Amino acid sequence: MRPRGLVVAIDGPSGAGKSTVGRTLAERLGYTFIDTGAMYRAVAWQALVRDLALDDATALGRLAQKARIELRGSLPRVFVDGAEVTDRLRSREVSQAASRVSAHPTVRRALVARQRELGRDGGVVMDGRDIGSVVFPDAEVKFYVDASPRQRAERRQRELAAAGTASDVDVVEAEIRARDEADSSRADSPLTRLPEALYIDTTALTPEAVVESMAAAVASCGAR
Ligand code: C5P
Repeated sequence: MRPRGLVVAIDGPSGAGKSTVGRTLAERLGYTFIDTGAMYRAVAWQALVRDLALDDATALGRLAQKARIELRGSLPRVFVDGAEVTDRLRSREVSQAASRVSAHPTVRRALVARQRELGRDGGVVMDGRDIGSVVFPDAEVKFYVDASPRQRAERRQRELAAAGTASDVDVVEAEIRARDEADSSRADSPLTRLPEALYIDTTALTPEAVVESMAAAVASCGAR
């Protein structure tokens, strides 16, 4: 056991509900929730603001090294170099840029090192694409959270609408499928479903039901 508890890894594709259930599970366990997608989004956002080419691995790697990315609170709210950027990170432009930026090993090296530091002592629920495979291959509990592409697109459309952006669900679904393809086929740390990860299809489940089954799995692991 690590000093502050277990490392709970949640991987899966975009829009499967990882952060919703991850946040609630972390609250329930008294753990810290770490949304690693927000870290890639923060780097992508900074790259867009600075007009960096999204294929410039060296410049993006340097940016990822230097940016002071902080996740505060349980949402979490995201700060880059002391300024809050939480509301800027969920746009379609940033989503697509994050997927491109995250394919560069230079960027991944910088962010994975920070994620390992954040989770080293345990007591974390960390969500992403490569948490169980690369960041914490020794995580005590691993989940793979999935949902149908249509369902994920509908959730994402609602999220965009809540933020004031109207969108066509077919277009959102096509974007989600393109991101899935990019995230699963990249050379460095592709999204993979590990045999040891507990698979949860959230398509027909409420977030409460998902958290319930996750909490049960964590409890049985902690009791081992
Ligand atoms: O999870 P979220 O959709 O916010 O992540 C945004 C993008 O960041 C993903 O499409 C993926 O390309 C990248 N990502 C990653 N590894 C992680 C978390 C996110 O490559 N651990």
